Amino acid sequence: MDDDEQGEEYLFKIVLIGDSAVGKSNLLSRFALDEFDINTKATIGVEFQTQVVEIDGKEVKAQIWDTAGQERFRAVTSAYYRGAVGALIVYDITRRITFESVKRWLGELDTHCDTTVARMLVANKCDLNNIREVSTEEGKALAEAEGLFFMETSALDSTNVQISFEIVIREIYKNIS
Ligand code: GDP
Ligand code: MG
Repeated sequence: MDDDEQGEEYLFKIVLIGDSAVGKSNLLSRFALDEFDINTKATIGVEFQTQVVEIDGKEVKAQIWDTAGQERFRAVTSAYYRGAVGALIVYDITRRITFESVKRWLGELDTHCDTTVARMLVANKCDLNNIREVSTEEGKALAEAEGLFFMETSALDSTNVQISFEIVIREIYKNIS
């Protein structure tokens, strides 16, 4: 190894967690491919997408993992979490039950990862404000109580998707530098 800092490379593993159909796969495809799929039934078998982001003039590779739909069976494996340094915990603002699951997902995260994991609570589907079941204030309050970043997003109309991932990536970078 030489001491040329320019050559340094960063690879951050980030996991997407949350109940089935909250929009995890679409958030990822919106972020990585700028695509949205109205008909996503099951997640197609891509394990992760890699996205390069520049921070402080350095190239950072974010390797973002998506479940293969196994969250339906409450059985996301420990391999999924292994090595993760960031997590987006997603719920659907139109289904309160997915918000109530957040605590369980945070528990999962604590079981499998250490506490320095950068964590963002993501309230997805904010384009569906007319059928909202979880208020912004409730989301914020939970995030504050649990020490998480908070963002309301829409994978459909792109609201706050880019920024949500970037905040997590920046926080990870801050944690290691
Ligand atoms: P996953 O199971 O958490 O990966 O969820 P998916 O990404 O497969 O999305 C589940 C369903 O919600 C699909 O029908 C998507 O089209 C829809 N969906 C995802 N994100 C949004 C969003 O931001 N707004 C709306 N209106 N629908 C969304
Ligand atoms: Mg999915």
